[in-house]
Amino acid sequence: MERFTVVTREDEVSLSLGKKIADQLTEQSKVFDNENPEIVISVGGDGTMLHALHQRMHQIESVHFVGIHTGTLGFFTDYEEKEVEQLLEDLISGNPSTEEVQLLEVRRYNGERFESLYAINEARVENIIKTQRIEVFIDDEYLETFRGNGLCVSTQIGSTAYNRSLRGAVLLPSIRAMQLTEVAGIHHKLSRSLSTSLVVPESHVIRFESKSYNDSILCFDHLHVSLDGVDAIEFRLCKKAARFARYRPTSFIKRLNNLY
Ligand code: NAP
Repeated sequence: MERFTVVTREDEVSLSLGKKIADQLTEQSKVFDNENPEIVISVGGDGTMLHALHQRMHQIESVHFVGIHTGTLGFFTDYEEKEVEQLLEDLISGNPSTEEVQLLEVRRYNGERFESLYAINEARVENIIKTQRIEVFIDDEYLETFRGNGLCVSTQIGSTAYNRSLRGAVLLPSIRAMQLTEVAGIHHKLSRSLSTSLVVPESHVIRFESKSYNDSILCFDHLHVSLDGVDAIEFRLCKKAARFARYRPTSFIKRLNNLY
């Protein structure tokens, strides 16, 4: 891949590593092209990669991503800081395979009209001001009425992120599914919902309906939007995918072991 750009976290180590990578690739006749890159190199953490992915959402299917972590090994990053020379060698003369990561499509409905947003890790409805009531449907079949702070729908790759803090299960990469988890659900004699997480295979659609989403927000990865005027939200794994350039296999179990 000849045309590249670099996205760096705003700390000293990441900035200087990002500059080193850009300088050395340019010296090797690679072309810095921020408009139309073939590969985006993320320098920082998994959070930095999320920013890089969202910045390129308009060209997500024509760009590859690779990450170097300036903390520990991450889930989106294949190289640690000390491996920068290996990353440069791979970028200059390596032949990567492509790993596709399916995106979560989130539709905000106002009557019949909807607007789509895309997430890599998860999307969630959260209300920290008052109890949020949500009717949950799986493929138009009523499942439950949830009451509490909110509900989170995560992807496989997001299962190690916010989902894990909510005590959702970690899914291995071959599992193509969404996971629905509760955020501070209310459970007593008069109010019940599943309370455990629900793993929903890719062919299904999760739908949230509510009479009022006042004071709630819809968070997707590090971004958020208002739910004013929204009456339903649908979540589905879609055909759109982010493409990671894999120059060498990195075990998911190793990444997981490194996490805690
Ligand atoms: P952020 O500071 O960019 O990220 C928060 C933490 O989540 C960081 O430690 C980040 O790792 C880690 N992370 C991100 N994606 C991950 C993944 N797929 N697997 C494991 N860890 C992951 O926070 P932000 O900008 O508010 O939100 C970005 C993401 O952070 C969200 O998508 C959400 O999943 C996650 N988050 C988690 C919690 C929580 O667990 N309580 C709370 C808020 C947000 P790095 O240090 O490598 O960047």
